[in-house]
Amino acid sequence: MILSVLEKRKWDAQSRLLRRELQDIELLYEQLHSHVAEGKKTHHGGPCIPAVRRLFVDTKGEFFPCERVDEESSELCIGDLKNGFDLENAKKILNVAKITEKECRECWCYKMCSQCVAKAGENGKIEAANRLKWCKQSRENAEEYIKNYIVLKNFGCKFEEGEA
Ligand code: SF4
Ligand code: SF4
Repeated sequence: MILSVLEKRKWDAQSRLLRRELQDIELLYEQLHSHVAEGKKTHHGGPCIPAVRRLFVDTKGEFFPCERVDEESSELCIGDLKNGFDLENAKKILNVAKITEKECRECWCYKMCSQCVAKAGENGKIEAANRLKWCKQSRENAEEYIKNYIVLKNFGCKFEEGEA
C-alpha cells in the first residue's frame, strides 16, 4: 500500500483492500488534526450503528447488524419483519464496549479500536472474554496504521490536500 501511494508501484484503483487501508489512514489523519477536545461522553471506536450500515435479513426474516454475526443468536438479533426493530438489543450491540468498560477506559487504543460485536459475540453470546482475546490484534492494527501514516507523511503525502 505504501509503495503504491508513493507511486513506486502502480496504484490499483480497483483494489478494495488498498482503498480500505488508505481510508483508515486518512481517518487517522482527520482524528489527529481535528483539534477537538474530548467530550465528557465519547464513544469507543469500532461498532457501527446497528442496521444503518449493513442491515442483514436472514431467510426467517430476522434482522442482524450485518452478515458477520451469528444468525442463531438471540442476543445478536435486532428484530424481525413482523415486529420491527428490537431497540434494546440494538443498543446493547452499539454499546458493546460496556462489557469491557474498565479495560477500554485504560486502553490507549480506545478511539482507534476496531472491535465490534462481531468479535464479542463469537459463540452467539456477547461476552467480555470473547472481546478481550482480540485486544492484542486491535492494538497491533492501530500501531500499523500509525506507522504507515508516519512513513507516508515523511515521504511527503499531503493528506490535508487530499493527495495521499
Ligand atoms: S462487522 Fe461489526 S461494525 Fe461491521 S457492520 Fe458488522 S456489526 Fe457493524
Ligand atoms: S483493544 Fe481491547 S481494551 Fe483496548 S479499546 Fe479495544 S476492546 Fe477495549
